[in-house]
Amino acid sequence: MSSLTLPEEAARRRTFAIIAHPDAGKTTLTEHILLAGGAIRAAGAVRARGENRRTRSDWMKIEKERGISVSASVMTFEHDGKMFNLLDTPGHEDFSEDTYRTLTAADCAIMVLDAAKGIEPQTLKLFEVCRLRDIPIITFINKLDREAQDPMALLDDIASRLQLDPAPIWWPAESGNRLRGMVEVGTGRFQPYTRKAAGSAEDPEHPPALPLDQAAQYFEAGEQADLAEAVELVEGGYPAFDRQAFLEGHMTPVLWGSALRHFGIDELLKAIGDWAPAPKVMKAKKESPPETRNAPAPVETEVEPGSNEVTGFVFKVQANMDPNHRDRIAMFRMASGAFKRGMKLKVQNTGKSLSVNAPIMFFASDRELADDAFAGDVIGIPNHGVLRVGDSLSESGVVRFAGLPNFAPEILQRVRVKDPLKAKHLKKALEGLAEEGVTQLFRPEIGSDFIVGAVGQLQFEVMADRLGEEYGLDVVFEPSPYAEARWIAPGAEGSDADVEDFSGKYRPQMARDIDQAPVFLAKSSWETGYVGERFPKIAFTKTKERG
Ligand code: GDP
Repeated sequence: MSSLTLPEEAARRRTFAIIAHPDAGKTTLTEHILLAGGAIRAAGAVRARGENRRTRSDWMKIEKERGISVSASVMTFEHDGKMFNLLDTPGHEDFSEDTYRTLTAADCAIMVLDAAKGIEPQTLKLFEVCRLRDIPIITFINKLDREAQDPMALLDDIASRLQLDPAPIWWPAESGNRLRGMVEVGTGRFQPYTRKAAGSAEDPEHPPALPLDQAAQYFEAGEQADLAEAVELVEGGYPAFDRQAFLEGHMTPVLWGSALRHFGIDELLKAIGDWAPAPKVMKAKKESPPETRNAPAPVETEVEPGSNEVTGFVFKVQANMDPNHRDRIAMFRMASGAFKRGMKLKVQNTGKSLSVNAPIMFFASDRELADDAFAGDVIGIPNHGVLRVGDSLSESGVVRFAGLPNFAPEILQRVRVKDPLKAKHLKKALEGLAEEGVTQLFRPEIGSDFIVGAVGQLQFEVMADRLGEEYGLDVVFEPSPYAEARWIAPGAEGSDADVEDFSGKYRPQMARDIDQAPVFLAKSSWETGYVGERFPKIAFTKTKERG
């Protein structure tokens, strides 16, 4: 039992995710953060997962073994008096929707850039989501052990393309074969780099830090003086780190290193511990379940992480982790309270109550039963389909957090089951997968087809596999006439009547999503633009907040 108070427990939580373009080194960094945090003893554990995601069949295999979380979940470890929850996001870009959802449960993001490539397309997309959600960002520029771009050019890129003030915390002394180490900006402390540590499986160690002017042994002629001069320029040319500006999303502290060579990792972990925010006060509504009679009107409220009532929301559901049981694990991010095993929680939008007798906490090395948990923590709640992505849970049952976004799919296909007698099963299975958030499901107003939407092609393959294995359905996907899906609602000047009018005119292209929300299926992006201009009173959106 901990002797800390509830607000103290909340305050020592650091819940964060890593965002990166594929291949920038997210998997490697995850592993080395766990190593630095003492959560695993040797490199290799996470690596194995990382490699497996590269091909579809391997991915499926590892997904089935989902013992230690693949497109899962969270890795929890305690280090230096703090509790770190590293939310894992799937590496494959087709699963970016999952990544977006996971970010809704993170209080901070580590943006990993490849030092040779800088900002890449996927980095930009993920960054936008962080900005939308006001998630502060720590930048880690990786692969210094390879030939890198000029550090100033990298920082300028961050400033101009992300509109974010970079505050270098360290400054690299060259890169690739000439990498000597890095200097702490402001203190002149020098952290030497030795190649000896390269790729070693044991805890790799670099020599201890020392003042730059005493570090001559690590340099060749002239290098040390050049570096001192560069650091002086940097100190004059960039703003000093300002935590408030960072928390408000205007500034990013920039750290450097090499995940593969375990260089710069302790420094990064320290930055996360020192600067990443503890769980924040969250806006919510106090609202009775929809069916409640004589319910009081909803009121706005703020949930303090250190307050007593357990509250939180489900940001992800993983189904059928064990194929022998139709179990589902709902990933529940706590916003407040002290959770105890066996506690009863209520689902706000259904009024259902469930006893959480076997919660799972995802310690980095293994899955364990959670006895208690606090704001910022993520626990896995096994259930049989009662919990859905976006659900709010609390002891009172009346706390509702704003929904999680659904993103407009980029590929829409028609799905058909080969055995027509199984059409009914197909509906159930598709709904199940859509509830889990694997794919999106649209039911056109006319006809009996199902249109399935995904952000990437791989999602269809995973889906076909799962329909076969878990539901015994042999399905085919066929092209659909649609290119884009847009949720529709009255715009600023519009009303429900405008939506009805539009739906009437475009009835053959109207559909309902899993929550019965109206969706317009456009045949091309040109058509999306065209109807947008013709019907200015209607808001066509690419995302829909659930709940
Ligand atoms: P992810 O796709 O972002 O998860 O990237 P990975 O962690 O799988 O890394 C992609 C590739 O870059 C792998 O071959 C890694 O071994 C390599 N890599 C990652 N970090 C470093 C690094 O610091 N230096 C070098 N040289 N290679 C790295």
